[in-house]
Amino acid sequence: MTTADDLADRVRDGELRIHELEAHADHDTAAEARRLVVERETGVDLETIADYGFPAETAEPNIENMIGAAQVPMGVVGPATVDGGAADGEYYLPLATTEGALLASVNRGLSVIDAAGGATARVTKNGMTRAPVFRVDGVAEAAETVEWVEKNLETLREAAEATTSHGELLGVEPYVVGDSVYLRFAYDTKDAMGMNMATIATGEACAVVERETPASLVALSGNLCSDKKPAAINAVEGRGRSVTADVVIPGDLVEDRLHTTAEAIVEANTRKNLTGSAKAGALGFNAHAANVVAAAFLATGQDEAQVVEGANTITTMDARPNDDGGHDLYAAVSLASLEVGTVGGGTKLPTQAEALEILGLQGGGDPAGSNADALAEVIAVGTLAGELSLLGALSSRHLASAHEELGR
Ligand code: NAP
Repeated sequence: MTTADDLADRVRDGELRIHELEAHADHDTAAEARRLVVERETGVDLETIADYGFPAETAEPNIENMIGAAQVPMGVVGPATVDGGAADGEYYLPLATTEGALLASVNRGLSVIDAAGGATARVTKNGMTRAPVFRVDGVAEAAETVEWVEKNLETLREAAEATTSHGELLGVEPYVVGDSVYLRFAYDTKDAMGMNMATIATGEACAVVERETPASLVALSGNLCSDKKPAAINAVEGRGRSVTADVVIPGDLVEDRLHTTAEAIVEANTRKNLTGSAKAGALGFNAHAANVVAAAFLATGQDEAQVVEGANTITTMDARPNDDGGHDLYAAVSLASLEVGTVGGGTKLPTQAEALEILGLQGGGDPAGSNADALAEVIAVGTLAGELSLLGALSSRHLASAHEELGR
């Protein structure tokens, strides 16, 4: 039997390369051998990285050159009380982070939401996009290509949907820039985040475009998609799920639990999240939406680079006059492009699958797409809680210092 020591020696002697070890031993032995190579080269003890709690083989679709696992602490917040289009009831939301105080803050926001009777959440748009770029001779050929695409959506749909039993082509939006034509394909990818699914389906549709029009494919992704990069198109048109959560918090609850007033929170939101973000040229108009999105993504096996799109969130707050002569707080978060799935990608890994099970949302939903919708809604409510708690803290501190200055 080949041992990790043998493999590490063969790597040292130049007989094997570190990506070839799984061909000579099981996945855990290959990972151990790689650790030995690194330990011998660097003198670093990798004892903790070695202490992972799942068979290395299960991670094969997710990682190459595995040496172990990066262990990020995971906690839960909640219950999050959600009245959603797909989510319904109370959810413990698992969050993985290294930022102390984040879960405490989100938990505080959720308890205020719970005391107010829970939050409402809805997915209002759903479409994973892939936008290939084609080369044409010039504007006449570009127009010819666009015209063909607009008249032959059914042909493109047939080609794209032949590659998947779940994905549905929703539409194709053409964009022309000089002698480049971009076709932004949008799919309902059901419970999958859908980036692989959309890419494979679009590849087939591109072959048809090349056959039927003068356009030649340059790249399957032409960056108008736009994946894992700050881009206004995602903030405006959406990508993945566009999801909004809101709540009305009675004025006395704002005072008792957040130690501030609806008016003070609204002022902080306007000056900070709206005006400050506008002045900064931001795409996201929020306090820290990415904090909750990132921690939920890490816990539940989402593609963490897509936190970029999750940050395209607008937080809106309003002080609504109530019957007591005071004001209740209306609070909402609108995440334009939250890319989540409950099947595929990292969601199959054992710890991430368990985290989805805490939510009762692991795997495909019934109907297909409902689990990913529910996940988006619960993350949106968690994000709303994070916004409420932070804005509450900022405005209560401001009030406290104002009281101090005024001597009362
Ligand atoms: P995937 O794991 O590639 O595909 C999801 C699979 O789940 C599909 O094969 C689908 O089958 C199946 N499925 C079973 N039940 C389903 C249900 N209820 N709803 C939807 N699908 C269901 O995952 P993906 O979400 O498309 O892609 C995510 C992966 O893409 C991540 O690992 C991410 O890191 C990676 N990624 C890829 C690119 C790229 O350009 N390729 C870019 C960014 C990220 P059918 O299709 O046969 O129906």
